[in-house]
Amino acid sequence: MAVPKQKVSKSRRDKRKSENSKVKPVTLVECPSCHEMKSPHKACMKCGMYKGKKVIETEKKQKNEAV
Ligand SMILES: [Zn+2]
Repeated sequence: MAVPKQKVSKSRRDKRKSENSKVKPVTLVECPSCHEMKSPHKACMKCGMYKGKKVIETEKKQKNEAV
């Protein structure tokens, strides 16, 4: 079993903890098919495309939203 060679000082431990708990800004990339902003490595929520294929069925007209 791997054992730590040296004790991690309070300062170093707390610095690591604060670095790992930071709130990072949301990363967005442009969808290659509809040019909307979307999360990387995820299907586009607007057109449902991922890697050139339609993976999610999206509504073309949002008529149900008015009800
Ligand atoms: Zn899209």
